[in-house]
Amino acid sequence: MPPPGTSISTPDPTPMATPMHVLRGIAVSPGIAIGPIVVLDTRGIRLPPRNITAEAVERELQRLDEGLEVAGREAAEAEREARTRLGPQYADILAAHARMIGDITLRADARTRVEQEQVSAEHAIIEVLEAHATRMERLNDSYLAARAADVRDIEARILGQLIGQRPKSFQDELPAPALVLAQDLSPSEAAGLDPNRVLGFATEAGGPASHTAIVAAALEIPAVVGLGKFLDIARQCRMAVIDGDEGLVILDPDLPTQARYRAAAAERSARFRVLSQQANLPAVTLDSTQVHLWGNIEFTAEIDACVNLGAEGVGLFRTEFLFLNAKPPPSEDQQFQAYAAVIRALRGRPIVIRTLDLGADKLGPYRVSAYIESNPCLGLRSLRLSLRDPGLFRPQLRAILRASTLGDVRILFPLVSTLAELREARAIVRDVAAELVAEGQAVRENLPVGIMVEVPAAALMADHLAKEVDFFSIGTNDLIQYTLAVDRTNETVAELYSAADPSVLRLIAMVVEAARVHGIEVTVCGKMGGEPLYTMLLLGLGLRQLSMPPHQLPEVRRVIRGVRIETARAVAAEALRLETAQAVTALLESALRQALPDTPDTPEPAASAMR
Ligand code: PEP
Ligand code: MG
Repeated sequence: MPPPGTSISTPDPTPMATPMHVLRGIAVSPGIAIGPIVVLDTRGIRLPPRNITAEAVERELQRLDEGLEVAGREAAEAEREARTRLGPQYADILAAHARMIGDITLRADARTRVEQEQVSAEHAIIEVLEAHATRMERLNDSYLAARAADVRDIEARILGQLIGQRPKSFQDELPAPALVLAQDLSPSEAAGLDPNRVLGFATEAGGPASHTAIVAAALEIPAVVGLGKFLDIARQCRMAVIDGDEGLVILDPDLPTQARYRAAAAERSARFRVLSQQANLPAVTLDSTQVHLWGNIEFTAEIDACVNLGAEGVGLFRTEFLFLNAKPPPSEDQQFQAYAAVIRALRGRPIVIRTLDLGADKLGPYRVSAYIESNPCLGLRSLRLSLRDPGLFRPQLRAILRASTLGDVRILFPLVSTLAELREARAIVRDVAAELVAEGQAVRENLPVGIMVEVPAAALMADHLAKEVDFFSIGTNDLIQYTLAVDRTNETVAELYSAADPSVLRLIAMVVEAARVHGIEVTVCGKMGGEPLYTMLLLGLGLRQLSMPPHQLPEVRRVIRGVRIETARAVAAEALRLETAQAVTALLESALRQALPDTPDTPEPAASAMR
């Protein structure tokens, strides 16, 4: 098989037909989608045509003025917000952006283009600002070259305004359900996809555990990312297959390939239906060890799938998704309503509400330019951001604590890297609880508090951390990223990103051991916890709780019910002795085949093309 990012064309046996292209990327959301394709312009932005008619000039000038006006006000608002929340260094950058947007030369140059060259407002802005940014980059001055990024940032802000006046989303313009092909999609763009209109998506960029991938899986939209450059070829094609199990995209598939995939898709849904009917069977191994299966959710609508597919509760509610497409951010009351709805829908089942994990690739649109960090994954993200920004953190804690009396609520802090952070966060929870009590509001006493173990520092300190929390939740998506120093969203290093790496397994084993010694619960809630290949390994390492996207529950339950704990222990012990991720993967594949020989093979889609 060729590596991700490669493409092979094969002549179609039918004369005159366009050639079929088979592209290999990274499978991030399972399932098979077949249909017509829509190729998006950069990051989902639909630019209007460049040229306009003479009659449209007046209207276009008015749009340009309005766009600049609103974008300027927006930057000034962002500046005020950043000044109170984040301090002067962020605010000053935004103040400079607001000034640039209000600059009279920018307005005059753009107006001249619209009037004299008859171009649309969007293209006038792009042409003026791109020329400016390119001049700065060519000046051989690293300070000015870096400022070119600011020019592009304000360009994006103004374009956002101008395009915002046009139809809301490319989805509104789709004539029929289609496959979306794009350079990249951000998590918030993915969160806005409508599964009834977008059957699947494939992107040139993106890594194996990006939040875009997580959202796709939550929406049950088959997706392949990290395909490398392919949009130029795709623009000449009419339809495609997206194979979210194998990480393949087949452009203009020939008829036999289409038939094979349609059959595989039908078989897949029949199998899922059968396994889903077993949702009420206990997740117990052949030798009677009970395993607790929970669901991960990003959207409140996923609760139904959790309940129907037999989750005992919600092991991870990624609350930042309430914020990603919300402008302004949800108020305390709006958050309370959202948490209360989920808790009520669970009818007594437990729920672990994770506090905001904003930052890195998860930035709400209203604060995109508030964080200009050269290394955002190692920067002000997650709990660090919440601790720095009481205006964000306290209303969320108030909402969670108010909702805590409605059910079995537990609270989870993301990306804890030191004991000091944990203590500071716990102190704020205590303070917020006291404040609510003083206001006469009911708050649940002894609300269980846990931490995500997702940086090596936390895993290495797990024995100390375990004394101060009620539970651990191992976030393998980030743990892999930080242990192996591999950006989880970067397709160019995706081959290094592996849950099977022995270094990751050793850290997981340490965390499970610390939890056992201190008598606290431990769950795996990263992607690894929902992948059947790793189920035996995790059981063998001592895990008895797994939390995963709800549609993964049936396959994981099937593996649990088909294995013995002693076999799982032997597999884990062997894996811990191995030297490479490849050797661990081979071991796990063979152990799974032996224990469950009926594990389905994924279809060999276009054997001739792959050779
Ligand atoms: C993780 O890192 O494994 C995790 C569950 O958190 P997220 O994927 O939201 O970063
Ligand atoms: Mg994480």
